[in-house]
Amino acid sequence: MTTIRLQNTKTRKREDFVPIDPQNVRMYLCGPTVYDRAHLGNSRNVLLFDVLFRLLRHIYGADHVTYVRNFTDVDDKINARAAETGRPISDITEETVGWYHADMDALGAMRPTHEPRATQYIPQMIAMIEDLIAKGHAYAAEGHALFAVDSYADYGALSGRSVDDMIAGARVEVAPYKRNPMDFVLWKPSGEGVPGWDSPWGYGRPGWHIECSAMAHDLLGATFDIHGGGNDLQFPHHENEIAQSSCACPEGEFARYWIHNEMLQVEGKKMSKSLGNFFTIRDLLDQGIPGEVIRIVMLGTHYGKPMDWTAAKAAQATKTLKAWRKLIKGAEEVGPDQEVVDLLADDLNTAGALMRLHAMAKEIAANPQKDCHIEKAVFLSSARLLGLLTEELGGWDAATVDLSAFADKLGALRAQAMETKDFAAVDAMKSMLLGAGVEVRMSKTGVELEAGPAFDATKLEDV
Ligand SMILES: [Zn+2]
Repeated sequence: MTTIRLQNTKTRKREDFVPIDPQNVRMYLCGPTVYDRAHLGNSRNVLLFDVLFRLLRHIYGADHVTYVRNFTDVDDKINARAAETGRPISDITEETVGWYHADMDALGAMRPTHEPRATQYIPQMIAMIEDLIAKGHAYAAEGHALFAVDSYADYGALSGRSVDDMIAGARVEVAPYKRNPMDFVLWKPSGEGVPGWDSPWGYGRPGWHIECSAMAHDLLGATFDIHGGGNDLQFPHHENEIAQSSCACPEGEFARYWIHNEMLQVEGKKMSKSLGNFFTIRDLLDQGIPGEVIRIVMLGTHYGKPMDWTAAKAAQATKTLKAWRKLIKGAEEVGPDQEVVDLLADDLNTAGALMRLHAMAKEIAANPQKDCHIEKAVFLSSARLLGLLTEELGGWDAATVDLSAFADKLGALRAQAMETKDFAAVDAMKSMLLGAGVEVRMSKTGVELEAGPAFDATKLEDV
């Protein structure tokens, strides 16, 4: 059996992955707060965890992996959006969940096993907070419940910070009811017009961090295998999840392996609204960039490195995928190439696995006279382990114009030119087609035209 190795943030080492229960490998990814469209950067860990999910299913069996990703549907950003727009909160969260599903589906990300919503887990959160208070790790004050960071000696271990460093470096909300400025909110009071639930500390709503601890415990147990998110979540979110879960369930270990991905840039710059290079997944899809192209570009950089989205990469990827889809026509899945599996197992080296796919495709293309039946099948299966060349993501490459009328005309002009030895009309038509981004192949058997990556139908002249 292939052994997966993962760079574990918790130990700062690359470790062999040994599941607690190979019959049920369990992983958790912090999901979105649902008040707006997901931006491109949000897709990075979704795609990373999707490849990990596929790899684990390949190694341990499709029915032996449980993947949980939550929806944060109670949050001050959602409340603010509702106040701005005058719309009910449930309308906003429902609509955003729908958008999120549509966008991630378009990128070929499989749906997780469970997608719990915070508002469905309020009783579990209240129970966990009560337990933390009973154990002396939390306290109630002025309608709030707060986690006491001084009560947990390992606070800061994941991100490698001491509480004093955090106080010095972080923008800590100082509040009179906090014993230590780093103490964080488990529960807070809700005023009018803001969602709330009755609790032992009064009418209120949970803080953000407690939801992941409560949902992970309910769906995955006190100890599970892998937890992940963007590296911007390491502190404070993941640090707080660990503190809550470890103190509420000292018998458990919470997550054994922590995976954090680096951030996304656009054309070498940080993505930000002020720089005008901020865009959502939907923006790209609406520009006509296929989800499969976004996916392969995102997987082209190892998750541990900053990822740079560029238009040039997208154009190149479009070309690659068109060629690959042509290559696998009629091929059926067998099983993936072991080298691709090994590369993915090596800390999810998606970039290396794509290089291997390029080499495999090159080899097949270099032997057009050979049938390459097995090679194509292995290539297809390997690509699908990365969620590429799937049926669901297909179709976009064929959705080009019908160029047969142009091919017929060019064929007729050529036949004429063979007689007259005057090729001017043939050359003129060829340059018109090339100018419109059409790839022209003329052989003894006929004329073949195909829309290339720079195809522009408006540059085609009538025939
Ligand atoms: Zn979380």
